[in-house]
Amino acid sequence: MSRQKIVAGNWKMNKSLQEAKTLVEMILNQVNDFDEVIKIIIPPFPYLDSINSQLSKKENFFLGAQNCHTNANGAFTGEISANMLSSVGCKFVLVGHSERRQYFKEKDADFVSKIKEALKYNIQPIFCVGETIYERKTDNHFKLITEQLTAVLTQFTLIEFSKFILAYEPVWAIGTGETATAQQAQEMHAYIRSVVADIYDSNIANDVSILYGGSCNAQNAQELFKCKDVDGGLIGGAALNADDFSKIIFSF
Ligand code: PEP
Repeated sequence: MSRQKIVAGNWKMNKSLQEAKTLVEMILNQVNDFDEVIKIIIPPFPYLDSINSQLSKKENFFLGAQNCHTNANGAFTGEISANMLSSVGCKFVLVGHSERRQYFKEKDADFVSKIKEALKYNIQPIFCVGETIYERKTDNHFKLITEQLTAVLTQFTLIEFSKFILAYEPVWAIGTGETATAQQAQEMHAYIRSVVADIYDSNIANDVSILYGGSCNAQNAQELFKCKDVDGGLIGGAALNADDFSKIIFSF
């Protein structure tokens, strides 16, 4: 799949069902047919089916999930499978988000299993990588990103990888209001492409869409999206407000 402009809104654990439906309605009204950009709404699990009904009539608006389990079904109380996600219209799933790494202790092997499962059901993974402030300050950020990418990507064929979207999300910028500068984002996105080229080849490295995430908002999106290797944004806080999210979509 060739590179695309993408804006994905990760709502995390926020909003009631009614608030969620209203937010989607407002976003659809504001953005309507701006088809150059793929828009992905990633609400909490209980709202997926309902939001899918709102999005399904729109071109270039897609539903995503925040997580999936490593198995298709079975005795895993409280878990949600890719199989289920696909049955409610999900086309994308986040894997490797720093909050899953930090709070739920998810590891590379979990990410590999989750992505394998997602791909079985035609759900595209948005695989997130990112360094902490400690790794950046000690100049270990490139090494860490290489490790995070290599551990997972080497478990997939080139054909499988062609379904991936990557997201660079420096942990120090997530929910902190501190954004990577356009220069820092561009530098890391170009580096990520070079790691992908080493693992696969330069064509697929050039084709993969790489999103930036970390306090991306209506004010800074334009500068970030201008960068040659930044193909869009994975948006947290600013995705909870229709005006902000719409402005970000129009920032290309
Ligand atoms: C995120 O959680 O993926 C994210 C980028 O959050 P925020 O935009 O709030 O930093």
